[in-house]
Amino acid sequence: MTPLIGETEDERVDLKSKIRNLKSKMKPLRVDIITIFPDYFRAVFDYGIIRRARAAGLVTIEAHDLRAWTSDKHHVVDDRPFGGGDGMVMKPEPIFAAVKSLTGANRRETVPQGTRVVLLSPQGQTLTQASAAEFAKCEHVILICGRYEGVDERVADAVVTDEISIGDYVLSGGEPAALVVIDATLRLLPGALGSETSAVTESFSDGMLDYPHYTRPPEFEGMRVPEVLLTGNHAEIARWRREAALEKTKRNRPDLLK
Ligand code: SAM
Repeated sequence: MTPLIGETEDERVDLKSKIRNLKSKMKPLRVDIITIFPDYFRAVFDYGIIRRARAAGLVTIEAHDLRAWTSDKHHVVDDRPFGGGDGMVMKPEPIFAAVKSLTGANRRETVPQGTRVVLLSPQGQTLTQASAAEFAKCEHVILICGRYEGVDERVADAVVTDEISIGDYVLSGGEPAALVVIDATLRLLPGALGSETSAVTESFSDGMLDYPHYTRPPEFEGMRVPEVLLTGNHAEIARWRREAALEKTKRNRPDLLK
């Protein structure tokens, strides 16, 4: 395969060693999840990108039980909505206490630099590759998972730095959304993926979708892999991939090209 960075084997080895040095100087990203279901996350931390990033020392992740920051006997985290209506609302006090204990701050203005306090919410700004890349540059990311009808608005008003939605649909809780944010963020940490360059060529990194991928067999149920991919002509393959990525973006996500 044509190297995307580094023309010769020596250059590639040099680049890899520079990346390794850089990684060894970096502090791991710290991720804290505030949730009423910390067990929801247990198994997931041991799979795929999260397991690899943890094993490589690139990230530390902890899921905290919000009830630990309640002060009443029954560890109540929700209450009825003012003004009436269905369902329950998550109380502000335990969430403010959790953020204070994890960051030292209980107002957005005093949240330390390099720290993001993220509220998962369908009313937030949609997560993008660019926002995931910003989280990947942080030292500390706190993810607040709502439940019920949502979280008392004073949390979003006063202590949250980012209100993030993972799409225009409503989930029952912020936990799956937190996992989406974590996965998208961790794969952008230098060294988290098997290949140092793979995140660079993925969908959205250059404003387009990724090119189509194929593997063996070259023919399956009468469908042949594009011949150019079997030629070994790297310049032609790179050209075909650029065109195929553009074609797919026009077809599936024309909005990205505007
Ligand atoms: N009443 C809220 C509304 O209509 O906007 C929906 C609350 S939802 C049932 C409960 C929690 O799930 C939210 O507080 C949020 O943490 C999470 N959630 C639901 N949909 C989400 C989305 N698209 N992105 C991120 N978090 C979401």
